[in-house]
Amino acid sequence: MSDKAACAFCGKAEAEVRRLATTPTAAICDRCLGLCRDITAGRTAVEGTKPDLVCAVGGKDRRGILVAGPAFYICDECVTQLSESN
Ligand SMILES: [Zn+2]
Ligand SMILES: [Zn+2]
Repeated sequence: MSDKAACAFCGKAEAEVRRLATTPTAAICDRCLGLCRDITAGRTAVEGTKPDLVCAVGGKDRRGILVAGPAFYICDECVTQLSESN
């Protein structure tokens, strides 16, 4: 992984996306955030989520629904938070 910020889901660099939400542990672009929101909106519970999986952004918080990306997992709460922060 390079030092340059890039979306951990689609791999696009900050310059290639409209907005890149960066966190200390991961970065995700607005398009992928939208996709994650669509995914989590269609689910209602954490069932099926393995207990050893954690949100790459929130870490310990596992209350929400985890969306699996190619490089990390992100929970619906962080998706919402990152979508709204700007
Ligand atoms: Zn992306
Ligand atoms: Zn989270």
